[in-house]
Amino acid sequence: MKAEIITVGTELMIGSTLNTNGPYLSRKLTDQGIEVAYHQSISDGREVIEEALRIALGRSDLIFLGGGLGPTQDDQTKEIVAKSLGRKLIRDKDLEEDLRRYFSSRNYKMTQNNLKQADIIQGSQIIQNKNGTAVGECLALDRGYLYLLPGPPREFEPMVDDLVANYLPKGDFDIYLKSIQVMLLGESTIESRLRELGLESPETSINTFAKLGEVEIKIISKLLREDPDKAEKLAYHERVIQELKKEFAPFIYSEEGEDLAQALVQKLIKKGQRISFAESITGGRLAQKITSVPGASKILKSSYVTYSNEYKIKDLGVSQDLLARKGAVCQEVADEMALGLYKRTGADLSLGTTGEAGPISNENKPIGTLYFSIAHQGKLVEGKKLDLRGDRQSIQEKGTILVLSHLMAYLKRGENHDQ
Ligand code: AMP
Ligand code: MG
Repeated sequence: MKAEIITVGTELMIGSTLNTNGPYLSRKLTDQGIEVAYHQSISDGREVIEEALRIALGRSDLIFLGGGLGPTQDDQTKEIVAKSLGRKLIRDKDLEEDLRRYFSSRNYKMTQNNLKQADIIQGSQIIQNKNGTAVGECLALDRGYLYLLPGPPREFEPMVDDLVANYLPKGDFDIYLKSIQVMLLGESTIESRLRELGLESPETSINTFAKLGEVEIKIISKLLREDPDKAEKLAYHERVIQELKKEFAPFIYSEEGEDLAQALVQKLIKKGQRISFAESITGGRLAQKITSVPGASKILKSSYVTYSNEYKIKDLGVSQDLLARKGAVCQEVADEMALGLYKRTGADLSLGTTGEAGPISNENKPIGTLYFSIAHQGKLVEGKKLDLRGDRQSIQEKGTILVLSHLMAYLKRGENHDQ
């Protein structure tokens, strides 16, 4: 069974809207064991839509069309699909009633255009839209099904979830998927270690996805539902997970798909430890990452952005003499920031960052130099120089992730000692 996704919208063609619907649906179908064989992304033009549909009808069993169900002139997906399939558009009385109610309850004026959304293709099944006025549709065809879905992601995504749960035929495969999030190792290092381990089998593949400073390792097993050796192959899938967990143990920060900040907040809550930051080069990003996670108030005491030397001295008690002798960009200053911060906040963990983000170097230190320091109960436990590449923004962003990664690695090491 082959699936094809057609995303419709001129905004996708001219680059003003990022096509998130296509990948979202692709992931969901893959998880269902349905093979997505083709994607088409096309403009709103009549001929373009007709041609895309003709091609899809000739090669795919499940066709998903997303976008162009709105009330405006350029939204004509439904009309074109109806015509291409030789079916009529029929005004659905219940939908019309719903629309009228919707508009009058909000005191909006309803136009003829809006009524278009009450038309459905003859013989199709309506898929309710809980988040908007454009309903989805499911049409049975000779060789499979065609689905029409609204374009706005906040309507598209919940409808896809509903579709997957209630409307889709089951694929031939069961998909088993495990994600492991790894920090402090580059994708190429991970790749070469994976290659050495040689764990892949015809059914089980291992993929890596690099994000800024983090890599996700995905173990995916695609097992034929009727396979007589399924139990054995599933056991192999589990074995691969265990092997990888062993191989990358010190670097794994989550197996639940969390990002680093979420995993850190959870870990600190579990340990009952509180944290504070003194940031120079990272300019508040450490605090921003942590405070964006629900529950951060349980673990973040306070955070300083001490950008100038004056306030490194005033707020944190960094020595004026040290700053004069070595400048702000050195390990000693990061250390004094962390220690001074502990004196101010008494947080279990206090972190300092200093460095040079560029594009012009103030102290003739190489751009991309970052020093961080971690104090635990007022004792220095970890400090390092990082050499980062890229422009100002990527140096700051990557630096933030790496500092949080080192903190996570430190916390994990502590757990191992405790055992
Ligand atoms: P439409 O249903 O085509 O009128 O689309 C309504 C809204 O959804 C517009 O703001 C589009 O930019 C957005 N949209 C449509 N298709 C996609 C897509 N594939 N990915 C993300 N957004 C989309
Ligand atoms: Mg559109």
